[in-house]
Formats: sequence, structure tokens, C-alpha cells
Amino acid sequence: MVKAYYEKDGDLSTLDGRQVSVIGYGIQGRAQALNLRDSGVNVEVGLRKGGASWKKAEEDGFKPLTVSEAAELGDVVMVLIPDEVQAVVYASEIAPGLKKGNTLEFAHGFNVHFSKIVPPDGVDVVMVAPKGPGQMVRRTYLEGFGTPSLAAVEKDHSGKAWETAMALAKGIGATRAGVIKTTFREETETDNFGEQVVLCGGVSELIRKSFNYLTSEGYQPEIVYFEVLHELKLIVDLIQAGGLENMWNNVSNTAEYGGRTRGPVVVDSGTEEKMKKILADIRSGAFAEEWMSEVAKGVPNLDGMRKKGSDETIEKVGKELRSMFVKGEEATSAAR
Ligand code: NAD
Ligand code: MG
Repeated sequence: MVKAYYEKDGDLSTLDGRQVSVIGYGIQGRAQALNLRDSGVNVEVGLRKGGASWKKAEEDGFKPLTVSEAAELGDVVMVLIPDEVQAVVYASEIAPGLKKGNTLEFAHGFNVHFSKIVPPDGVDVVMVAPKGPGQMVRRTYLEGFGTPSLAAVEKDHSGKAWETAMALAKGIGATRAGVIKTTFREETETDNFGEQVVLCGGVSELIRKSFNYLTSEGYQPEIVYFEVLHELKLIVDLIQAGGLENMWNNVSNTAEYGGRTRGPVVVDSGTEEKMKKILADIRSGAFAEEWMSEVAKGVPNLDGMRKKGSDETIEKVGKELRSMFVKGEEATSAAR
């Protein structure tokens, strides 16, 4: 059994006298900055002047600094801006402010692992990656609990990098839920694989292709939508609460027999071969290169796929259905 780290394993006094600068005030930045401040940590936020988050941070009682100012001031600099802009912002605005003894912190290992960011010697490099969206990081903290997280040390110049990571994890509430130790490499590769193969890529394509096929066979789009998309949440909730067997135990015997026998027909050894190719592209850095070059071009392919996606029938049907049902309306606002 892997070791989990809890409240007693983190010591907030590790951060005494250290200025923590949170760069970015988006999904993770806002949640983590607020949690750290509520935990008594000395927090400043660093933002683009005039950017949308500036006002938000002010409304929450921060006096935002520019990214350069915050990086200069911070003993611990938390890089919580989108992964695809981190390398550029790091080079121009963060790196110049880093000093020996500082700690650079990330919530995802991507840029450091793929050497898009190469921190200087003398700087500790750590990660605390919440396994949930920022809204959850904040909400659970306010409820007196926290969001399970991964933590890692890439560079330990001070000999205290893990202590710093655990103090940050405690400050954001993660140690209340549990923290598991990983490496930048493991977190990055498994995170990318998970979102490509299962969570975002695989699931959405299973839904899309099932929807398009069944509607082409003449079934009513609304009925199909419920069967192949809407009910997914109920199934995922069962899986998340108690694992796969818990899900099987809570569906009908017909669903269980059909699912256990047909699942491996849909996702077969051909899919496993593709998993190998996808992991190989992640490990080699080929995916990272592809994505960074897409970003450098201004995400033309991504924009095209977004446009195509929102024009699909399944989106229109979903929109209509959600507006017809109160429950759907609640779900939509919760997802916002
Ligand atoms: P986000 O998209 O919410 O970040 C937006 C923030 O970054 C805003 O404050 C914006 O002003 C700022 N920003 C954007 N471009 C900028 C630029 N060029 N210069 C300065 N500031 C800029 O980001 P996020 O989803 O919170 O992700 C932050 C990090 O957390 C990433 O490494 C991500 O992988 C990781 N992470 C995110 C989640 C999540 O819930 N979204 C979960 C776990 C880990
Ligand atoms: Mg992830």
C-alpha cells in the first residue's frame, strides 16, 4: 500500500518568514491563494496588469503585483498559469526574479519534465498537484476538508524541498484529505495518458460515436442522449465512490452481464496497441512538441475542432434537453 501523507506530516512553520507568491489567479491560482491566506501563510499574487483576474484578486482582498514583482519578492513562487504559457512567462518574468534558496512550485509537471522550463541551480523545484479542479480545492477547504493531491520534488537544493512541498500542501488543505508522493515524470506521463485515453479523449469519443451511430439508425436523439451521455455521471459516481465492482453491484444484472461481456469487445487488444503508441508519444516528448507548436501557431487546429464540436447535433440536443429539465439546469450551473 502506498504511503499517504496527512496533517501531521506537514508543518506550516516551514513557511514562517517566507513570502509565497502565487502567479496566476485562475482556476487553481485563486483557490490556492485563498486557502494559503486562510491558513495564515504570507501570500501575494502576481498577475498581468489589466488582465481579467486583476480585479477578481482585488475583490478578494489581495493587492496584486505584476508577475515580475511577485517573482522577485517571493521566496516560494507558485506557477499557476496555464501550462502552455508557462515557459514564455517563466523566461521573461519569473526567472529574472529567482534567487538561490527560492522554491519554484508547480501544480503539474509538464513544463519541468519536458524541459520547457529549466530552473537555475540553487532553486528547489517542487509540485503539489490537486486531483480536482480549483473550485473543489476551495470548496472542500471551506468545508474543513481538502482535495487529495500528489506531491513531488524535482530538485532539492536546500535539503528541505519535501518539507516545503508538504507545508504548501497543508496550506491548501491537501493534507486533510491525503497526499501521495510521486515524481514530475510519473505525474506528467500518467496525467497526459489519463486525459487522452480515458477521461477526456476516450470517453468523449465513445459518447460521440455511439450517439451518431444510434441516431443514424433512427433512434430519437433525445433518448440516445440520455442513454449514452446523461447517465454517465451516475455510473462514474458509483465507480468513484467504490470502484468498478461497486458499479457492477449497483446496476441491473442485465447491464452487468452485457457490460462485462461486451466491454472488452468495444475496447479490445487493438485499443491496447493504440494505448502503447499514445504512451510512447507522451514519453518521447512528441506529444509535448506537437502541442507546443500548436500553441505557437495560435491554436488553429484546436480552434477548428472546438468549432466543429460545438456545431454537432449532440451539443444542440443536449442544450435543448437541459433547458427542458430542472435537474439538467442545476447540473449545468454546477458545472460552470
Ligand atoms: P487557468 O487557465 O485557470 O489560469 C488562468 C490564470 O493565468 C489567470 O489568472 C490568467 O490571468 C493567468 N494567465 C494566463 N496567461 C497568462 C500570461 N501570459 N501571463 C500571466 N498570466 C497569465 O489555469 P489552471 O487551470 O488553474 O492551471 C494552472 C496550473 O494548475 C496548470 O499547471 C495546470 O496543469 C494545473 N492544474 C490545474 C487544475 C485545474 O483544476 N484546472 C487541476 C490540477 C492542476
Ligand atoms: Mg489532470
